[in-house]
Amino acid sequence: MKALNPRCELKQHLQELSFKKWQNLWDNGNTGRYVHKVLKTVNLKPVFWTHEEILFVTGHGPFPSFLNRFHLSDSDSCPCREVGDLVHYATTCPLTLSWHIRKPSTSLESLSYQRVLEYPNSRNRIINMIKFIIDNENIMRLE
Ligand SMILES: [Zn+2]
Repeated sequence: MKALNPRCELKQHLQELSFKKWQNLWDNGNTGRYVHKVLKTVNLKPVFWTHEEILFVTGHGPFPSFLNRFHLSDSDSCPCREVGDLVHYATTCPLTLSWHIRKPSTSLESLSYQRVLEYPNSRNRIINMIKFIIDNENIMRLE
């Protein structure tokens, strides 16, 4: 005679299977790749980010590359002629020099973006940089 598992064990097992499937979909998906760099592991805990932190994590916002991707701008370039994406503004653009963070190597990119949000100094730099970009959106695009 086969013993039936208690209901809580079955529930836990199903939850583990669901998380494994969700994690696999998250790791191998095509969308949300900016967010994946910061949130590697799926879970049900909410994150409490400011508007600017959400723009940093998602790469969505008044950035020329993002606007161009959705046909809201004719150019994806920053006035300095580089591609105007979030990494450019956060690491190399002369227009946002005051708030730069160190450009991570490709292998450390995920870890670096996670750390940016963990340390108040770098977190404030990113928040202030994004506020500057929002306030000066008209001069941050190559027309
Ligand atoms: Zn630039």
